[in-house]
Formats: sequence, C-alpha cells, structure tokens
Amino acid sequence: MDLNLKINDKGHVDIGGADATKLAEEYGTPLYVIDEDRIRDNYKRVFNAFTKYYPDFKILYACKANTNLSVMRILEEEGSCIDAVSPGEVFTSLKTGFSPDRILFTGNNVTNDELRYIDETGVRINLDSVSQLKRLAEIVDPEGYKISFRVNPMVGAGHHEHCITGGEMSKFGIKESEAVEVYKLAKSMGFEPVGMHTHIGSGILDPEPFKLATTVLMDIAGKVSQEANIGFEFLDLGGGLGIPYEPEENLLDIDPFAEEITGIFKSKLSEYGMDGANKPSMYIEPGRYLVGDASVLLTRVNTVKNSYRKFIGVDSGFNTLLRPAMYGSYHHIVVANKANKTDEISENETKLEKVDVAGNVCESGDLFARDRPLPIIEEGDLLSIMNAGAYSFSMASQYNSRPRPAEILVKDGKSEIIRERETYDDLFKNQIIPKRLEN
Ligand SMILES: *Cc1c(COP(=O)(O)O)cnc(C)c1O
Repeated sequence: MDLNLKINDKGHVDIGGADATKLAEEYGTPLYVIDEDRIRDNYKRVFNAFTKYYPDFKILYACKANTNLSVMRILEEEGSCIDAVSPGEVFTSLKTGFSPDRILFTGNNVTNDELRYIDETGVRINLDSVSQLKRLAEIVDPEGYKISFRVNPMVGAGHHEHCITGGEMSKFGIKESEAVEVYKLAKSMGFEPVGMHTHIGSGILDPEPFKLATTVLMDIAGKVSQEANIGFEFLDLGGGLGIPYEPEENLLDIDPFAEEITGIFKSKLSEYGMDGANKPSMYIEPGRYLVGDASVLLTRVNTVKNSYRKFIGVDSGFNTLLRPAMYGSYHHIVVANKANKTDEISENETKLEKVDVAGNVCESGDLFARDRPLPIIEEGDLLSIMNAGAYSFSMASQYNSRPRPAEILVKDGKSEIIRERETYDDLFKNQIIPKRLEN
C-alpha cells in the first residue's frame, strides 16, 4: 500500500510523529492535521528527480490545492515558485514571501481590474484568451512587456478521458490551431511573448497522458518558435501529478517519470532548434502531489445507526471535505484509535463490516464513504480521513452554519495550531442588518 499511513506502537494513526488520538483530545474535532516534513519530502522528491535530467527546472506550486499561510511558508523555504489562478492567490503568495518573479498568474475570465492589479504586483501574466491580450494592451504599455499563453492541446482520441482541462470541451487556453497566429498578434502589438503553458488535468497516476501532453505542447512550441520567431524563456507543462487515494493504487514512480518527460522535452528542443545557448526553462505545476498526502482530517464518530443500512455518523461533513460529494472521490478512512485493525494488516483476526460513513450536513449526498469495509466501529471512535491536504480545506465552507475546523501543523512529533477553529460569531462576519430589521 502506497498511502502515507503510519501506525504507532499503540496501534494509533501517527502523523509526523504525533498520535492522532492525542491531537483530537487536545484540539477537538473535526481537525485538519498537516505533516510538515511530508510536504518538504514531496517537494524535494520532484525537484531532485527533474533537476537530475534537466537542471534548468522550476516547480510552481499550484497553490489552489492549499493556501494555508504555513503551507505556503514551507514551500517558500524549499525554494518553490507559485502557480496562482486568482488575484487572491497572488496576494497570498506575496504575503507569504514569494517575490513577484517567483509567481506566474494563470487566470481565466479575468476582469480588467484584476489585470490591473496583477500588473501592479509585477507578477508575470499567463494569458488565457485573445480578449485578455487585447484588454491587457489597453491597461499596460505593451512595448517589451513579457507575457505567455496557455494553450489547449487537442490531444488525440483515446487519450481524452484523462485530459479533462485540454480538448474541445475545455474552457481553458487558446486553441492549438490558433497558437502561431496569436503569438504573432501579440508581437505585432509590441508584447514580448516568452512562454507557453498547458495544463491537461488532474490526478494523473499514469505517465502516458502527461507524456502525450508534453509531446503536443513541445510540438506547438516548436512551431510557434519557428513560424512566429519566438525565443521561449520557459515552457510550462502544468500540473496534474496524482497521488494514490485507494490502497491498491501505486505512487507515481517519480524518477522514471522525470526521465521520460525531460527526455521528450530535450529531444523536442533539438528537433525544433530550440536547444541553443538560451534554452527554455522547464516548469511544472504540481498542487495535489506536494500537499495531498501530507494531511489528514480527524473526525469523531458520534452516532452508530442501524437503519436500512448501517450508518457511521461523524462530526464533519462535505462542508469540511467536499471531494467525495463533489467528485465521488474515494478517501481512505482509518479508525485512528484502532488503526492496526484494518483489512490490510490483520485480516484474519479482525471482523470487518461494510458501512456508510455519513457526515453531519443536512443533505443525503453527504457521505464520506458507501459500503466501506471497516473494523467494528463504536461511538467515540476517531476516524482519520486520509489524503486531506489538497482541495480539502481550500474548498471548505460554512454550509449549514457550521464554523470551519482548526488546522494544526506537526513537526518532529510537536503540534502547533496554524488556524483557529471558527466560532459562531465568524458566521456573521461582514453581514449587515438594515436598521428597519434590527431587533
Ligand atoms: C489546478 C492547477 C494545477 C494543479 O493541479 P494538480 O492536479 O493539483 O497538480 C496546475 N496548473 C493549473 C493552471 C491549475 O489550474
């Protein structure tokens, strides 16, 4: 099993050297727990693998996965750059110490005010449409202004299923067939296009779609470099590196993956004569891969109900972790105080039963798992929902008027609170009652 699951000698889930049951007692539940060293290790694993084959390489952390300020600080310390998809993410990145030259803004459906703000920060703009290009030209002096474009590679039939942010149905980027024209247009307006970007989708464990997208991007870049006479400073392959969510899934084997991707990159550079002294830098934009398996959500069982099905009721819901309800995603669940009693570890001595793990939101779709084989669960048990570091807190809401949970950071077995649990008063923040309705 390739999940980042550690169990201590008491049989409890261990996060960064801390016992999950102790953390839950100390800080209450629901609780997000982040393992600092795992983020650092994830970063180093990708960085070392790629720089070995192509030293002029940068990781742009796709911070929409998790914008907690401490998570951002950890990645800043590691030397990461940032992929920001909104002005708020640019603001957050600057606030956490990333200099503007370490941030790339890839927005879609961006307003003029937002373009003006990004320009003021000095952050590089990766354009998503001709509309944005034309509007930017009215906001800044285009002469020598460096930009890049996101392109939508029309990846071949049979490869579509993984390539959800590329292809005909995707709202992102400029059409592959228009790329040469658009780069020429940008140049004729005075801009200096220096980069090309693509991002084909998310949660990729199989290297093939990423290899294909890299090949296609390099062919487009090669054509644009020759026909529009562009000297690329960088080519950005986007994110999408997956992590195993199910115990049967395997980690992406990063070293051969890096070797293959950089291999394609280098051979395409030479095919199109882009391998001279000013070779482009290679960027990738992992989000999930860096932070996803560094965190768990701890939630306490308060109700065991034998209805038409057996429901295990917990004290958090899709307001806290949306992925299962929104995407039908699988998150592995471990009974944190009985973690040694899983099917993997002691199948013979533990009786498992299939249960539904249900949240506390008033919606029938609020389930963390259906028909999940788990050891016999009692009220008061603590569940650890694994892989809760990416697209988890960042998608949390106050739906059902439930304050959002606390987040803690663990390092060398020591825990610190990095986000206070919200209070009921936080539910009213920014609301104003008109005088005539006051009580
Ligand atoms: C979301 C996103 C990413 C990261 O995706 P992951 O699947 O988390 O790696 C990278 N680039 C862009 C432009 C994105 O929108």
